[in-house]
Amino acid sequence: MTENKYARVRLISKPGNMLKTIYTACRTCYSSDSPLNIYDCENAQDKEKMLKLIKRVISSGHYSTIEHIQVSFAISNISRACSHQLVRHRHMSFSQKSQRYVKEKGQFEYLIPETIEQNKELKEKFERFMGEISDFYGELTANGIPAEDARAVLPNAASTSMVASLNLRELIHLANLRLCTRAQKEIRILVKRMCDALIEEEEWLKEYLVPKCERLGYCDEDKSCGRKAVRG
Ligand SMILES: Cc1cc2nc3c(=O)[nH]c(=O)nc-3n(C[C@H](O)[C@H](O)[C@H](O)COP(=O)(O)OP(=O)(O)OC[C@H]3O[C@@H](n4cnc5c(N)ncnc54)[C@H](O)[C@@H]3O)c2cc1C
Repeated sequence: MTENKYARVRLISKPGNMLKTIYTACRTCYSSDSPLNIYDCENAQDKEKMLKLIKRVISSGHYSTIEHIQVSFAISNISRACSHQLVRHRHMSFSQKSQRYVKEKGQFEYLIPETIEQNKELKEKFERFMGEISDFYGELTANGIPAEDARAVLPNAASTSMVASLNLRELIHLANLRLCTRAQKEIRILVKRMCDALIEEEEWLKEYLVPKCERLGYCDEDKSCGRKAVRG
């Protein structure tokens, strides 16, 4: 698993009127004006003005305002171990390649964790082992075992792909947890690529799509990486 060949990510959907939508949600809470008028008002053309209010509202913890923004990512080349970690996030929506309906043909694709990749001898053993699993999987399906049962022998390293969608509040939460060095490297890379893809289009989100210590100002983990001082 090298960083380059790992986690292919593309942002495939994001509202074009993202700032205006959040701004309208924010202003609606504090204005006697209707959301329609707020959406159409002059301030909603001024990016700096909108950002000023939005950032103030986010920093006060008024997070419902950013739940209106839904983004979707096309993700491939991640391991089932990684996808299992991702699907623990309950406010995300997933459509994942099925190991029931999609039968593996020949050697199934898999990701080699970096620590194993770096050890020549163990990497060779790992690859041999994946080959043996693949042979046995092929033997099972050739003998009429359906893919949904033959998959029982496939490893956590098996490659998978999915479309994943989430709202902006959940993306910030995901970033805060999974960009932390306590998260496993594979999911850290994946989430970083998701965040980078969005930041490329919405630069203002850079300060929110960070490990939690950056937002807290301290580390709340038992084992700190030293990036921030541990909470006293
Ligand atoms: C470094 C690391 C190590 C981990 N190790 C393990 C492990 O060893 N074993 C394990 O099982 N999991 C482990 N996890 C997964 C972890 O326990 C969470 O399931 C996962 O991170 C999802 O986070 P979440 O529940 O905060 O967020 P989400 O599911 O994304 O939900 C976001 C927020 O919504 C709220 N929320 C969602 N659902 C509920 C609910 N039912 N009730 C109340 N509030 C809710 C909470 O405020 C939550 O923080 C680990 C996660 C990390 C980052």
